[in-house]
Order: sequence, then C-alpha cells, then structure tokens
Amino acid sequence: MKYRRLGKAGIKVSEIALGSWLTYGTVTEQNTAEACVHQAYELGVNHFDCANVYGSTPHEAERFLAKALQPFPRDSYVLTTKAFWPVGPGVNDRGLSRKHLTSQLEQSLKALNTDYVDIFYCHRYDPDTEMEEIVSTIDDFVRQGKVRYGGVSEWPAEKIAEAVQVQSVLGTHPLRASQPVYNMFNRYIEQAVLPLCEQYGLGVVVFSPLAQGLLTGKYRKGQPLPPGSRATTEKISHFITRYLTDENFAKVEDLLSVANDLGISLSQLALAWVLRQPAISSALIGASKPEQVVENVKAVDVELPLDILKRIDQILQ
Ligand code: NDP
Repeated sequence: MKYRRLGKAGIKVSEIALGSWLTYGTVTEQNTAEACVHQAYELGVNHFDCANVYGSTPHEAERFLAKALQPFPRDSYVLTTKAFWPVGPGVNDRGLSRKHLTSQLEQSLKALNTDYVDIFYCHRYDPDTEMEEIVSTIDDFVRQGKVRYGGVSEWPAEKIAEAVQVQSVLGTHPLRASQPVYNMFNRYIEQAVLPLCEQYGLGVVVFSPLAQGLLTGKYRKGQPLPPGSRATTEKISHFITRYLTDENFAKVEDLLSVANDLGISLSQLALAWVLRQPAISSALIGASKPEQVVENVKAVDVELPLDILKRIDQILQ
C-alpha cells in the first residue's frame, strides 16, 4: 500500500480506501463484510468510509463496519462518517443544522462503537443552513474531541470557497477533506473542485472510482449481467443500470484493450488513472467480495505513461 497526506492535514491515508454504501448493512452479509474489511486492512488499507444513511436502516452500515473493524486498534485506521440526508420524516431529521448534525454524530459514534471519527463529512450542501452555523458546529465537534477533521461531500466549488472564507473570519478549524465522485466517466471535478481543494489544502477522497463496477469490465454489451452483481441485486440495481448504455459499453471495450496491452485489469487501470492526480488522497472503492479488494489494491503499483493517458483521453472524448 501507499499513503498520501489528506491535503494539508497531518494524517496519511491509504491510496485505496474502502466504503460501505450499498454493500455492508444493505445487501452484503456480515461475514462477507468482515472478510472484505479484514482483507483490506491486511493489505494496508487504513481508510474506511461510512455514512449515517448507509445500510437498510439509518446507522446500520456503521454497525456492520464497527463489528468488522473491532479486532484492530482504533488508532491504526482512519474512520469517517457523514450526515445530511433524511433519517426520518421530521423537518429536522435532515440537513446540516446544528441540531441535526449533533444528534447524528452522537448516534454515529454509538453505532461505530467509538469515541471519535477521523473525518465527519457534510454529505451535501444545505441551502437552508447558514455557513456560519455549519462550520462552527463542525469546529465544536473538533474541540470536543469527537471529530478530528471536518469535510464536505459533493459540494459545489463556490460553496467550498465560501466555507473556507467563513472559517478564516471565524477562526475555526479548517475543513480538510472533500469527497466528490470521480471516475473516467465523470470528470467534472477537474474543472473547479479539484484545483480549489488543492489551493485550500483539502484532501480529495473520490468515490465510485470504478463507476460502481462498470469500469471493471464485468458488464459487456450483449452479455448477461453477472449474477450477484450490483446490477442484478433488486433493491440497489437502479443505481447502476442507468449507466449501462451503448455509449459506455463501447468505451469500456476500448479501455479493456488498453488494460490488456498493459497486462493489468480494467479496475486497476481505472484506479491508477484516478490516482494519477496528486491532489487526490484516496480512491474510495466499494467491494462485495474480498477478491475484489485484492485485485483493486494492486492499482497502487501501476504507473501510467503519458502515451497511455493520451490514449485514454481519446477514448473518453
Ligand atoms: P466503486 O465504483 O468502487 O464500485 C464498487 C462496486 O464495484 C463493488 O461494490 C462491486 O460491486 C464492484 N467491484 C469493485 N471491484 C471489483 C472488481 N475488482 N471486480 C468486479 N467488480 C468489482 O464504488 P462505489 O460506487 O461502491 O462507492 C464506493 C464508496 O464511496 C462507497 O462505499 C461510499 O463509501 C462512497 N460513496 C460516497 C458517496 C457520497 O455521496 N459521498 C456516494 C457514493 C459512494 P458488485 O456488487 O457488483 O460486486
């Protein structure tokens, strides 16, 4: 494994991080979840991601992850969670208000069976809460020792910039992490989010680097969907099936030939491609089987030469 700094924060995170959305606590059994987490930890992954809403009910994925991480010393890994999305029908059961963030952090700490999380993300931007309230709430969590670093997820660049500005006026702890989507099929962060995070010292942890499995090459045009995959699992298939288009299938075929030429798998190519960006701290994968972790982690040893990067750009145009 290789490690990178989380932006200007002092901590180092593994280039491959493991998350629990749509897997642990949703459809993946506890023993398989544990096998994936243990495999990752043994291969040097020290960065595990969760959120209050992951799992079949609020905080369920956190409970799964806590059990899986239980054998390992708490200080040996970086543990994250998030809040924003609704956890109930009430008007205050959502968003980034001081009330909701505080109650969610308390419940997450219980579910994760820990005194602190390393990164607490504001899972989306909330236009109904003033920036001062959001950043001062996160600052209080840090001062209380319940959170080490504040983060944002899928915030527009201008809102990240506004948060940084408000923090410098208030003198609060700076945000240190940003978690947007980034993969070969979704490169929007290259425009503004990535350079801005680099400028302000936020480590960028990118989710869905494999486009939910499409960039592993297991979904091919004209071939049956692989049994047991996300695309064939009833309650979660809609998250991926919309990306299974003819246009994407054609690109996957071309990308597979690049990977073949390099003697690596498409998932390794896709992850190495994400990690070519020095401003990215971790590529945050999901895994429903330990073998997937083993295959994906090998991407940290892949260096992509300039001519290959150009070839990939042409395919993705
Ligand atoms: P990926 O793009 O890495 O997709 C993961 C899925 O791809 C796996 O669950 C598995 O699906 C399949 N897969 C992975 N490796 C292989 C392999 N080597 N061979 C075959 N199939 C493979 O990421 P996710 O979309 O799952 O997101 C990763 C994490 O990012 C989440 O767990 C979560 O922590 C975070 N996230 C954050 C969001 C946010 O809003 N902040 C939103 C979404 C995700 P299968 O079931 O088919 O085996």
